[in-house]
Amino acid sequence: MTRFTRLILLLLFSVIPVGSIIQASQKNKAQLSALIVTGQNNHYWKNSTPIFKQILEDAAIFMVDIAQSPPEGEDMSSFNPVFSNYDVVVLDYNGDSWNDATKKNFEEYVQKGGGVVVIHAADNSFPDWKEYNQIIGLGGWGDRDENSGPYVYWKDNSAYRDYSPGRGGSHGKQWEFIVTTRAPKHPVMTGMPQNWKHAQDELYDRLRGPAENLEILATAYADESTGGSGREEPVLFTIKYGRGRVFHTVMGHVGKNQTTAVQCAGFVYTLQRGAEWAATGEVKQEIPKNMPNAHTVTLLPQYNIINR
Ligand code: ZN
Repeated sequence: MTRFTRLILLLLFSVIPVGSIIQASQKNKAQLSALIVTGQNNHYWKNSTPIFKQILEDAAIFMVDIAQSPPEGEDMSSFNPVFSNYDVVVLDYNGDSWNDATKKNFEEYVQKGGGVVVIHAADNSFPDWKEYNQIIGLGGWGDRDENSGPYVYWKDNSAYRDYSPGRGGSHGKQWEFIVTTRAPKHPVMTGMPQNWKHAQDELYDRLRGPAENLEILATAYADESTGGSGREEPVLFTIKYGRGRVFHTVMGHVGKNQTTAVQCAGFVYTLQRGAEWAATGEVKQEIPKNMPNAHTVTLLPQYNIINR
């Protein structure tokens, strides 16, 4: 660069209003960063992870990275996602134990205020990792039982803790069930319909766990005629762990040729809102007009992503 061009550049730069540069950089900073953790699951994560990435990106407030673990049974010592680089960590993982350093990093990340989103079978993971179970609040399968904590369901207009013995985690056949809002003033639920019909999905029931600092946002009735528990089961809830916020959706079953549950507009909008709340503590997204009501399921076909 000659001295002359340097001078011209300097002159050019000096006439750009400083305010516009600051504004632009603030706008970039306003983008929230999300990390989806995946790579092992008893569900078809090769479908679900790209769908969750797309759902978050479509909210237009997230930049999304993916941390893919080694395959099941392989050496996990190199799996060290830098959680602290992100505003929210989205768990689409149900598999082998993480190495001790990664577990500790995750605990510290949440303890210090990191956001977490738990989706469907991510609450089957790590039955023996105490802090993980505190972070997810409730879990199922993996030999969970009364030693894992109480069953939690909706009874007498509040979250009821049932300490009776028994297995943790079950579900009936897949069906379209009604989701009922229980915390209409929570930022995730503000403006959501009192009842809406979810697309065909597994309704997890009989989950159990420490359930500390847990708030139920929405429930669904696990009808015994479908093989369910006969209880109003929590389907959306939050947990506070340290300074961190956790949003847990038990919905979102994905199979190799099955993405119906995650095409549901209600699933999509609650995931987008829950992720924003976990990242920031507030929700600025509007609820789109095609949010389903109690009578009709709304599918968003752009999330019918099948990776073979
Ligand atoms: Zn499932």
